[in-house]
Amino acid sequence: MRVAVLRETAPGERRVALVPDTVSKLRGAGFEVTIERGAGSQAGFTDEEYATAGAELADDATAISGADCIARVAGPSATEVLSMPSGTVLIGFLDPLTDADGIARLRQQGIVAFAMESIPRTTRAQSMDALSSQATVAGYKAVVLAADRVQRLFPMLMTAAGTIAPVRALVIGAGVAGLQAIATARRLGAVVSAFDVRPAVQEQVESLGAAFLDLGVRTEETAGGYASELTPEQQAQQQAALEERIPEFDVVITTAAIPGRPAPRLIPSSAVERMRPGSVIVDLAAETGGNCEATVPGEVIERAGVTVIGTTNLPSLMAYHSSQLYSRNVSALLMHLAPSGELALDWDDEITAGACVTKPGSSE
Ligand code: NAD
Repeated sequence: MRVAVLRETAPGERRVALVPDTVSKLRGAGFEVTIERGAGSQAGFTDEEYATAGAELADDATAISGADCIARVAGPSATEVLSMPSGTVLIGFLDPLTDADGIARLRQQGIVAFAMESIPRTTRAQSMDALSSQATVAGYKAVVLAADRVQRLFPMLMTAAGTIAPVRALVIGAGVAGLQAIATARRLGAVVSAFDVRPAVQEQVESLGAAFLDLGVRTEETAGGYASELTPEQQAQQQAALEERIPEFDVVITTAAIPGRPAPRLIPSSAVERMRPGSVIVDLAAETGGNCEATVPGEVIERAGVTVIGTTNLPSLMAYHSSQLYSRNVSALLMHLAPSGELALDWDDEITAGACVTKPGSSE
C-alpha cells in the first residue's frame, strides 16, 4: 500500500500527517510512502530526513495519482477532492459531525474516508486517538499562552522584596485538554480550581492537585463518555454561578465542548467585566463559537482590561510535537486497516466501521 502525504493547504496549518520516524516504521511494516517536498518543513521536519527514513519525495501534489491512501491533518478542499482518484483511502480530521457537504463530496468522488474524530474512544483504539493527542497539546499551550499574557507570576515567590501570591487559575471542562491544562498550570505553580458538568471527573481533577469547584450543575455522561447538553435552565444557572465565582481568578481556561454542537456559552460578558484588570481568559472552544461571550474566534482581544484569547488550532502552534503524536495515531490506524501493508478492510471491526465516514456501497 502506498501512502502519500501532501503539504497541508488549510490556512495556518503547520502540522504534517506523518513524521520521518513513523515513515521508517511504516516502511518496515511493508508500506511505501511518498512525501510532497516541503510537507514537513513548517513542523521542523526536512526533506532529507524523510528521504533517509525511506520515503519517496515528490515535487508536487501529483504524487497522489499513484497512492492508495492519502494521509492528511485537515480535510481536503473541494478542488483537492476532485483530484483524488475514486477508491482512494483518505485519513484526516474530516469534521464528520458538522461538515455534511464535505463528507458528501468525498462520497460522490468514491473516496473511502476515515475521520480521526470518529475513531471509537475505546482502550483498543487508544493509540489512534488523535482527538486526545491534539487536545493534550492544546491544553498545555493554553496555559503557556495565559502565562505569557497575564500580568502576574504563576508561582508563589518569597523574595527579599516581599512575597508574591500565586496565580489562581480556573479550568472549565476537565476532559483531555482541561486535565492537561490543570497539570501544566500546577507545574508552573498556580493554585488551580476546575469544574466540569460530569461529576465523574471530580476525582481526576483532585488527583492532579486542583480543587473541584461545585457550581451545582451536573449532567449525565453519554455512552461515549461525553457530557450531554445542558438545558437552557441549567445553562442559565451555570452562567450565574460562574459570574459569582469568576472574579476570584486571574486566569480562566475554558475547554467545554459537546461533540457536533456549538460550544456551550458559559461566561457572559458581564462576568468578564467583573474580573480583575490584567486577567486572562483562554477559550479553547473558540473554534466552535467559544465558551465566553466576548471571544472572537482567531483573535486576541481586550475587554475591560481582561485579555480574551480566541486563538484557534493551538496544536498547530506546537507543530513538531503535535505532528509527532498525530503521526503515531495515523500510523496505528494504517497498520490496523492494512496489516503487513496490504489493505484489508474488515467492516465487522468496530474501529474500521466506526472511523469510516463514507463506507463504499452505503449511503452512510
Ligand atoms: P470534549 O472535548 O468533548 O469536552 C471537554 C469537556 O467539556 C468534557 O469533559 C465535558 O464534560 C465538558 N463540558 C461540556 N459541557 C460543559 C459545561 N457546560 N460546563 C463544563 N464542562 C462542560 O471532551 P474530551 O476531552 O474529548 O473527552 C470526553 C470524554 O472522553 C472524557 O470522558 C474522556 O475521559 C473520554 N476519553 C476516553 C478515552 C478512552 O477511553 N480511550 C480517550 C479519551 C477521552
